[in-house]
Amino acid sequence: MFAATYGLNVGPASPARRASPPARGGVGGRGFNRIEGVDMANVVVVGAQWGDEGKGKIVDWLSERADTIARFQGGHNAGHTLVIDGKVYKLSLLPSGIVRGGKLSVIGNGVVLDPWHLKKEIEQLRGQGVEISPKTLMIAENAPLILPIHGELDRAREEASAQGTKIGTTGRGIGPAYEDKVGRRAIRVADLADAATLETRVDRALAHHDALRRGLGMDPVDRDGLLAQLKEIAPSVLEYAAPVWKVLDAKRRAGKRILFEGAQGALLDIDFGTYPFVTSSNVIAGQAATGTGIGPGAIDFVLGIVKAYTTRVGEGPFPAELDDADGQRLGERGHEFGTVTGRKRRCGWFDAVLVRQTCATSGVNGIALTKLDVLDGFETLKICVGYDLDGERLDHLPFAADAQARCAPIYEEMPGWSQSTEGARSWAELPAEAIKYVRRVEELIQCPVALLSTSPEREDTILVTDPFED
Ligand code: GDP
Repeated sequence: MFAATYGLNVGPASPARRASPPARGGVGGRGFNRIEGVDMANVVVVGAQWGDEGKGKIVDWLSERADTIARFQGGHNAGHTLVIDGKVYKLSLLPSGIVRGGKLSVIGNGVVLDPWHLKKEIEQLRGQGVEISPKTLMIAENAPLILPIHGELDRAREEASAQGTKIGTTGRGIGPAYEDKVGRRAIRVADLADAATLETRVDRALAHHDALRRGLGMDPVDRDGLLAQLKEIAPSVLEYAAPVWKVLDAKRRAGKRILFEGAQGALLDIDFGTYPFVTSSNVIAGQAATGTGIGPGAIDFVLGIVKAYTTRVGEGPFPAELDDADGQRLGERGHEFGTVTGRKRRCGWFDAVLVRQTCATSGVNGIALTKLDVLDGFETLKICVGYDLDGERLDHLPFAADAQARCAPIYEEMPGWSQSTEGARSWAELPAEAIKYVRRVEELIQCPVALLSTSPEREDTILVTDPFED
């Protein structure tokens, strides 16, 4: 059974657990994607719930040990705060590696890029002493741009939506920018380099946008104004433009460690999330390949970040949601307010059904279980282990919205613990009930714990498996 294969190393000196090492090097068979003599270790980090799982701390720890850090989806909505040597850095577009010297940060083609925000974030970081140059930052030439008209459209649509049908977007134009990408009318980074191309692209985009705006009662776009804005901002983006796929291929061939930094969470994935209350891009681990141009065989380890309970921002289904004192307590102890929007997050018990599902769709090799300390002091803990749909037990969340709405959580109860786990750095410091909880989570989601986080501090982590060295 699973538990026997992936049993935790419980003990004060827990050495990193090793599975049998995968074949490395050579050609043919499973080794076909491998490069002879290169011991590759490329890691994808994805949120395995609805985002806000605590990716920042784990990504920071991994990025310190990576050569290249690449973002592969989303836009400037990936807000997180890094604290390094007492300095606080706020990032929402640039990869975490940017604040560390000697790393290459990459924005892949899967990201939608707001050039004005890029400039602002770079200036802010430079003001804090971070060195940013085309040697440390590269942006995919084929990444689509977010324009001011995308933000306007985003906000106008949300305002026009009836309560209950709002998607809960951050209003930054990310969704409309992805729509233009798929509609083949996006303006991409490379288009900024040539005035004639830019004009053609803008005209093509506006033929669509002006029609949309008319329907929403908005004024048509000021074409010349937009072109002037784009020409003015172009050098600030073009400076970093590069064929990212090629750069990453060279890094991979040189055996450098690449960290693919996911934003948001797998339950917000455009295909596999709780549609339509999702983000506009693929979030699951496969997107690391298509969103940067590296082959799927180059990914060695997928780390899913999982919070020890569940939260969600905005509207949409949430079967294990708590509308009582326990939910209130999770929110308060976990400081569940959005970093970018300040919105209060909805809270609920751990939903093992959903995490098993996201571990499967992202091919997660191990999870980082975060915020275990938030569960301290609960007399009883519940885990959602299935759904009751009209008397039938389900072990997955169906895609049909009406069925989702009727899914009632089936809970398993476990005793909680009264001792504090905050700041624990070894299994020996955890109460027996906390270890049982973690083991039960592993069993239910059919995936082992690689890291366990017990406070916002980097050092307050129990390492079971190092994703770069597994
Ligand atoms: P992201 O959206 O997934 O990147 O989530 P963040 O990195 O913004 O994390 C959300 C919050 O949780 C931050 O304030 C972190 O400091 C905090 N956090 C991360 N791990 C832990 C943990 O193990 N325990 C506690 N109590 N807080 C944590």
